[in-house]
Amino acid sequence: MEALGWDDRWEALVDSEASATGEPARVLRHDGRAVLIGRAAGTAHIHLRATTPPVAVGDWVLTDGESVQQVLPRRSVLQRRDPSTGYEQLIASNIDLVAIVSGVDRPVNAGRIERFVTLARDAGADPLVVLTKCDLAPETGELVAIAAQAAPGADVVCVSAEDGSGIEALRAMLSGSTVAFVGESGAGKSSLLNALADRAIAATGAVRTADHKGRHTTSSRQLHQLPGGCCVIDTPGLREVGLWTDTDTVDESFDDIAELAHQCRFRDCKHATEPGCAVKEAMQAGTIDPRRVDNWERLRQEAASSE
Ligand code: GDP
Ligand code: ZN
Repeated sequence: MEALGWDDRWEALVDSEASATGEPARVLRHDGRAVLIGRAAGTAHIHLRATTPPVAVGDWVLTDGESVQQVLPRRSVLQRRDPSTGYEQLIASNIDLVAIVSGVDRPVNAGRIERFVTLARDAGADPLVVLTKCDLAPETGELVAIAAQAAPGADVVCVSAEDGSGIEALRAMLSGSTVAFVGESGAGKSSLLNALADRAIAATGAVRTADHKGRHTTSSRQLHQLPGGCCVIDTPGLREVGLWTDTDTVDESFDDIAELAHQCRFRDCKHATEPGCAVKEAMQAGTIDPRRVDNWERLRQEAASSE
Protein backbone atom coordinates (compact mmCIF):
# COMPACT_ATOMS: atom_id res chain seq x y z
CA MET A 1 0.00 0.00 0.00
CA GLU A 2 2.85 2.36 0.79
CA ALA A 3 4.31 1.67 -2.62
CA LEU A 4 1.00 2.93 -4.01
CA GLY A 5 1.27 6.15 -2.02
CA TRP A 6 -0.71 5.22 1.08
CA ASP A 7 0.48 7.15 4.12
CA ASP A 8 -0.45 8.19 7.68
CA ARG A 9 -2.55 11.09 6.43
CA TRP A 10 -4.77 8.77 4.39
CA GLU A 11 -4.97 6.38 7.32
CA ALA A 12 -6.05 9.20 9.64
CA LEU A 13 -8.61 10.38 7.11
CA VAL A 14 -10.27 6.98 6.93
CA ASP A 15 -10.19 6.65 10.72
CA SER A 16 -11.91 10.00 11.10
CA GLU A 17 -14.75 9.24 8.69
CA ALA A 18 -17.48 7.62 10.72
CA SER A 19 -19.24 6.38 7.60
CA ALA A 20 -16.13 4.81 6.11
CA THR A 21 -16.63 1.18 5.23
CA GLY A 22 -14.66 -0.98 2.86
CA GLU A 23 -11.06 -1.44 2.09
CA PRO A 24 -8.82 1.31 0.71
CA ALA A 25 -7.59 0.92 -2.86
CA ARG A 26 -6.00 3.19 -5.43
CA VAL A 27 -7.37 3.63 -8.93
CA LEU A 28 -4.57 2.54 -11.27
CA ARG A 29 -6.37 2.69 -14.61
CA HIS A 30 -9.62 4.00 -15.96
CA ASP A 31 -11.11 2.30 -19.00
CA GLY A 32 -14.37 4.23 -19.10
CA ARG A 33 -16.66 1.51 -17.82
CA ALA A 34 -14.29 -0.17 -15.41
CA VAL A 35 -11.32 0.70 -13.27
CA LEU A 36 -8.29 -1.30 -12.26
CA ILE A 37 -7.61 -0.85 -8.57
CA GLY A 38 -4.59 -1.71 -6.45
CA ARG A 39 -5.05 -2.74 -2.82
CA ALA A 40 -3.20 -4.68 -0.18
CA ALA A 41 -4.40 -7.99 -1.62
CA GLY A 42 -3.39 -7.14 -5.21
CA THR A 43 -5.19 -5.69 -8.18
CA ALA A 44 -8.83 -6.09 -9.20
CA HIS A 45 -11.19 -4.83 -11.89
CA ILE A 46 -14.28 -3.01 -10.75
CA HIS A 47 -17.19 -2.18 -13.02
CA LEU A 48 -18.53 1.31 -12.70
CA ARG A 49 -22.25 1.76 -12.24
CA ALA A 50 -24.44 4.75 -12.79
CA THR A 51 -24.44 5.29 -9.04
CA THR A 52 -20.65 5.18 -8.71
CA PRO A 53 -19.22 8.60 -7.90
CA PRO A 54 -16.90 9.97 -10.62
CA VAL A 55 -13.43 8.48 -10.19
CA ALA A 56 -10.09 9.43 -11.64
CA VAL A 57 -6.78 7.64 -11.94
CA GLY A 58 -4.92 8.31 -8.70
CA ASP A 59 -8.01 8.40 -6.51
CA TRP A 60 -8.02 6.56 -3.21
CA VAL A 61 -11.35 4.82 -2.84
CA LEU A 62 -13.04 2.54 -0.36
CA THR A 63 -14.29 -0.65 -1.92
CA ASP A 64 -15.85 -3.99 -1.02
CA GLY A 65 -14.10 -5.54 -4.02
CA GLU A 66 -17.25 -5.33 -6.15
CA SER A 67 -17.94 -1.64 -6.31
CA VAL A 68 -16.55 1.72 -5.31
CA GLN A 69 -18.28 2.82 -2.13
CA GLN A 70 -16.57 6.12 -1.54
CA VAL A 71 -13.91 8.32 -3.08
CA LEU A 72 -11.64 9.77 -0.39
CA PRO A 73 -11.31 13.56 -0.55
CA ARG A 74 -8.64 14.40 -3.12
CA ARG A 75 -5.45 16.17 -2.16
CA SER A 76 -4.99 17.47 -5.66
CA VAL A 77 -6.93 17.23 -8.91
CA LEU A 78 -5.55 17.65 -12.37
CA GLN A 79 -8.25 18.73 -14.76
CA ARG A 80 -8.39 20.27 -18.16
CA ARG A 81 -10.82 21.94 -20.45
CA ASP A 82 -12.11 19.27 -22.79
CA PRO A 83 -11.12 20.49 -26.27
CA SER A 84 -14.33 19.15 -27.82
CA THR A 85 -16.92 20.29 -25.28
CA GLY A 86 -15.15 23.13 -23.48
CA TYR A 87 -16.11 21.61 -20.12
CA GLU A 88 -14.00 20.56 -17.21
CA GLN A 89 -12.63 17.02 -17.36
CA LEU A 90 -10.96 15.03 -14.59
CA ILE A 91 -7.58 13.73 -15.62
CA ALA A 92 -5.88 12.46 -12.51
CA SER A 93 -5.84 13.04 -8.78
CA ASN A 94 -3.63 12.95 -5.71
CA ILE A 95 -0.59 14.08 -7.65
CA ASP A 96 2.27 15.58 -5.66
CA LEU A 97 4.44 16.68 -8.56
CA VAL A 98 3.84 17.66 -12.16
CA ALA A 99 7.00 16.97 -14.15
CA ILE A 100 7.05 19.30 -17.14
CA VAL A 101 9.13 17.56 -19.78
CA SER A 102 10.88 19.54 -22.48
CA GLY A 103 13.37 18.13 -24.99
CA VAL A 104 16.49 20.19 -25.61
CA ASP A 105 16.52 19.05 -29.24
CA ARG A 106 14.18 21.97 -29.88
CA PRO A 107 14.01 25.47 -28.43
CA VAL A 108 12.73 25.52 -24.84
CA ASN A 109 9.19 26.89 -25.07
CA ALA A 110 8.86 29.18 -22.05
CA GLY A 111 5.19 29.85 -22.81
CA ARG A 112 4.36 26.18 -22.68
CA ILE A 113 6.25 25.74 -19.42
CA GLU A 114 4.36 28.67 -17.89
CA ARG A 115 1.09 27.12 -18.95
CA PHE A 116 1.95 23.79 -17.31
CA VAL A 117 3.19 25.55 -14.16
CA THR A 118 -0.19 27.25 -13.88
CA LEU A 119 -1.92 23.95 -14.45
CA ALA A 120 0.19 22.24 -11.76
CA ARG A 121 -0.37 24.94 -9.18
CA ASP A 122 -4.07 25.01 -9.94
CA ALA A 123 -4.22 21.26 -9.37
CA GLY A 124 -2.57 21.63 -5.99
CA ALA A 125 0.70 20.00 -7.10
CA ASP A 126 4.26 21.30 -7.31
CA PRO A 127 5.79 21.86 -10.74
CA LEU A 128 9.19 20.44 -11.66
CA VAL A 129 10.88 21.09 -15.01
CA VAL A 130 12.75 18.21 -16.62
CA LEU A 131 14.97 19.10 -19.55
CA THR A 132 15.56 15.84 -21.34
CA LYS A 133 17.69 14.64 -24.30
CA CYS A 134 20.60 16.53 -22.71
CA ASP A 135 22.97 14.17 -24.52
CA LEU A 136 22.11 16.27 -27.60
CA ALA A 137 23.08 19.61 -26.07
CA PRO A 138 26.69 20.19 -25.01
CA GLU A 139 25.75 23.29 -23.04
CA THR A 140 22.51 23.51 -21.06
CA GLY A 141 23.13 26.54 -18.82
CA GLU A 142 21.12 28.95 -20.92
CA LEU A 143 18.23 26.51 -21.35
CA VAL A 144 18.09 25.94 -17.59
CA ALA A 145 17.95 29.70 -17.07
CA ILE A 146 15.02 30.05 -19.50
CA ALA A 147 13.16 27.20 -17.83
CA ALA A 148 13.86 28.55 -14.33
CA GLN A 149 12.47 31.94 -15.27
CA ALA A 150 9.33 30.36 -16.71
CA ALA A 151 8.82 28.26 -13.57
CA PRO A 152 9.70 30.46 -10.59
CA GLY A 153 10.25 28.44 -7.46
CA ALA A 154 10.39 25.10 -9.27
CA ASP A 155 13.41 22.82 -9.61
CA VAL A 156 14.92 22.37 -13.06
CA VAL A 157 16.80 19.17 -13.79
CA CYS A 158 18.72 17.96 -16.84
CA VAL A 159 18.54 14.32 -17.86
CA SER A 160 19.06 12.00 -20.79
CA ALA A 161 17.04 8.86 -21.36
CA GLU A 162 19.64 7.93 -23.95
CA ASP A 163 22.83 7.88 -21.84
CA GLY A 164 21.12 7.75 -18.44
CA SER A 165 22.65 10.90 -17.07
CA GLY A 166 20.59 12.57 -14.34
CA ILE A 167 18.16 9.65 -14.15
CA GLU A 168 19.33 8.47 -10.73
CA ALA A 169 19.10 12.01 -9.34
CA LEU A 170 15.61 12.44 -10.79
CA ARG A 171 14.52 9.12 -9.31
CA ALA A 172 15.67 10.34 -5.91
CA MET A 173 13.70 13.58 -6.30
CA LEU A 174 10.53 11.70 -7.21
CA SER A 175 10.84 9.10 -4.47
CA GLY A 176 7.72 8.76 -2.35
CA SER A 177 5.65 10.97 -4.64
CA THR A 178 2.95 10.55 -7.21
CA VAL A 179 4.06 12.31 -10.37
CA ALA A 180 2.37 13.23 -13.66
CA PHE A 181 4.52 13.75 -16.73
CA VAL A 182 3.31 16.45 -19.10
CA GLY A 183 4.77 18.00 -22.21
CA GLU A 184 4.22 18.13 -25.91
CA SER A 185 4.31 15.06 -28.09
CA GLY A 186 7.87 14.09 -28.92
CA ALA A 187 9.29 15.84 -25.86
CA GLY A 188 10.66 12.55 -24.59
CA LYS A 189 8.15 11.62 -21.86
CA SER A 190 7.79 7.95 -22.79
CA SER A 191 11.54 7.43 -23.12
CA LEU A 192 12.02 9.09 -19.75
CA LEU A 193 9.37 6.91 -18.13
CA ASN A 194 11.05 3.82 -19.50
CA ALA A 195 14.46 5.00 -18.32
CA LEU A 196 13.07 5.65 -14.82
CA ALA A 197 11.28 2.30 -14.82
CA ASP A 198 14.25 0.42 -16.24
CA ARG A 199 11.83 -1.40 -18.53
CA ALA A 200 9.40 -0.54 -21.32
CA ILE A 201 6.17 0.71 -19.78
CA ALA A 202 5.36 3.32 -22.40
CA ALA A 203 5.62 3.15 -26.19
CA THR A 204 8.13 5.70 -27.43
CA GLY A 205 8.03 7.65 -30.68
CA ALA A 206 10.64 5.37 -32.20
CA VAL A 207 8.61 2.30 -31.27
CA ARG A 208 5.37 3.84 -32.46
CA THR A 209 6.84 4.56 -35.89
CA ALA A 210 8.03 0.99 -36.26
CA ASP A 211 4.74 -0.43 -35.07
CA HIS A 212 2.44 -0.50 -38.07
CA LYS A 213 -0.46 -1.68 -35.99
CA GLY A 214 -0.62 1.78 -34.58
CA ARG A 215 -0.23 3.29 -31.19
CA HIS A 216 -0.74 1.43 -27.99
CA THR A 217 0.12 1.46 -24.30
CA THR A 218 0.16 5.19 -23.90
CA SER A 219 -3.40 5.71 -25.05
CA SER A 220 -5.01 5.15 -21.65
CA ARG A 221 -4.23 6.87 -18.40
CA GLN A 222 -2.40 4.64 -16.03
CA LEU A 223 -0.58 4.75 -12.74
CA HIS A 224 2.74 2.92 -12.83
CA GLN A 225 4.86 2.00 -9.83
CA LEU A 226 8.50 2.71 -10.46
CA PRO A 227 11.55 1.41 -8.67
CA GLY A 228 12.72 3.95 -6.11
CA GLY A 229 9.25 4.31 -4.60
CA CYS A 230 7.44 6.63 -6.93
CA CYS A 231 4.11 6.38 -8.71
CA VAL A 232 3.83 7.86 -12.16
CA ILE A 233 0.60 8.78 -13.87
CA ASP A 234 0.91 8.78 -17.63
CA THR A 235 -1.46 11.39 -19.01
CA PRO A 236 -1.59 11.54 -22.80
CA GLY A 237 -4.72 13.70 -22.49
CA LEU A 238 -2.58 16.58 -21.38
CA ARG A 239 -1.01 16.94 -24.79
CA GLU A 240 -3.69 19.41 -25.78
CA VAL A 241 -3.85 21.11 -22.49
CA GLY A 242 -6.59 23.67 -22.06
CA LEU A 243 -6.67 25.70 -18.89
CA TRP A 244 -9.42 25.15 -16.40
CA THR A 245 -8.50 27.62 -13.74
CA ASP A 246 -9.05 31.15 -12.49
CA THR A 247 -7.13 34.34 -13.10
CA ASP A 248 -5.76 34.39 -9.52
CA THR A 249 -3.96 31.12 -10.13
CA VAL A 250 -2.52 32.47 -13.37
CA ASP A 251 -1.27 35.49 -11.43
CA GLU A 252 0.53 33.25 -8.96
CA SER A 253 2.72 32.00 -11.79
CA PHE A 254 3.39 35.56 -12.92
CA ASP A 255 3.63 37.27 -9.57
CA ASP A 256 6.16 39.87 -10.77
CA ILE A 257 3.82 41.09 -13.50
CA ALA A 258 0.67 40.82 -11.39
CA GLU A 259 2.41 42.93 -8.74
CA LEU A 260 3.16 45.63 -11.29
CA ALA A 261 -0.38 45.56 -12.66
CA HIS A 262 -1.62 46.55 -9.20
CA GLN A 263 0.42 49.73 -9.51
CA CYS A 264 -1.25 50.86 -12.75
CA ARG A 265 -3.21 54.07 -12.39
CA PHE A 266 -6.45 52.52 -13.63
CA ARG A 267 -7.86 49.41 -12.00
CA ASP A 268 -9.07 48.08 -15.35
CA CYS A 269 -5.84 48.97 -17.15
CA LYS A 270 -5.35 46.92 -20.33
CA HIS A 271 -1.64 47.77 -20.31
CA ALA A 272 -1.96 49.09 -23.86
CA THR A 273 -2.36 52.84 -24.26
CA GLU A 274 -3.42 53.92 -20.77
CA PRO A 275 -1.37 56.61 -19.01
CA GLY A 276 0.31 55.55 -15.77
CA CYS A 277 0.63 51.91 -16.78
CA ALA A 278 3.29 50.28 -14.62
CA VAL A 279 3.44 47.17 -16.79
CA LYS A 280 4.16 49.15 -19.95
CA GLU A 281 6.76 51.23 -18.15
CA ALA A 282 8.55 48.10 -16.95
CA MET A 283 8.53 46.68 -20.47
CA GLN A 284 9.99 49.91 -21.83
CA ALA A 285 12.60 49.95 -19.10
CA GLY A 286 13.45 46.35 -20.01
CA THR A 287 12.81 45.00 -16.50
CA ILE A 288 10.13 42.56 -17.65
CA ASP A 289 9.99 40.48 -20.77
CA PRO A 290 7.18 41.53 -23.19
CA ARG A 291 6.80 37.88 -24.21
CA ARG A 292 5.94 36.95 -20.63
CA VAL A 293 3.42 39.81 -20.48
CA ASP A 294 1.82 38.51 -23.67
CA ASN A 295 1.54 35.01 -22.31
CA TRP A 296 0.23 36.28 -18.97
CA GLU A 297 -2.55 38.17 -20.75
CA ARG A 298 -3.39 35.20 -22.95
CA LEU A 299 -3.61 32.78 -20.02
CA ARG A 300 -5.66 35.29 -18.02
CA GLN A 301 -8.14 35.61 -20.86
CA GLU A 302 -8.37 31.85 -21.18
CA ALA A 303 -8.87 31.50 -17.42
CA ALA A 304 -11.51 34.23 -17.43
CA SER A 305 -13.46 32.43 -20.13
CA SER A 306 -13.34 29.16 -18.18
CA GLU A 307 -14.56 30.97 -15.05
P1 GDP B 1 6.88 11.51 -26.03
O1 GDP B 1 6.00 11.74 -27.22
O2 GDP B 1 6.98 12.75 -25.19
O3 GDP B 1 6.53 10.31 -25.22
O4 GDP B 1 8.38 11.30 -26.62
P2 GDP B 1 9.20 9.96 -26.87
O5 GDP B 1 9.71 9.41 -25.58
O6 GDP B 1 8.40 9.06 -27.74
O7 GDP B 1 10.48 10.52 -27.64
C1 GDP B 1 10.40 11.22 -28.88
C2 GDP B 1 11.69 10.96 -29.66
O8 GDP B 1 12.82 11.49 -28.95
C3 GDP B 1 11.99 9.50 -29.89
O9 GDP B 1 12.48 9.34 -31.20
C4 GDP B 1 13.06 9.17 -28.87
O10 GDP B 1 13.91 8.14 -29.30
C5 GDP B 1 13.81 10.49 -28.76
N1 GDP B 1 14.39 10.65 -27.41
C6 GDP B 1 13.72 10.57 -26.24
N2 GDP B 1 14.54 10.79 -25.18
C7 GDP B 1 15.78 10.99 -25.69
C8 GDP B 1 17.08 11.28 -25.12
O11 GDP B 1 17.27 11.39 -23.90
N3 GDP B 1 18.11 11.48 -25.99
C9 GDP B 1 17.94 11.38 -27.32
N4 GDP B 1 19.03 11.58 -28.09
N5 GDP B 1 16.75 11.11 -27.91
C10 GDP B 1 15.69 10.92 -27.12
ZN1 ZN C 1 -1.30 48.81 -16.95
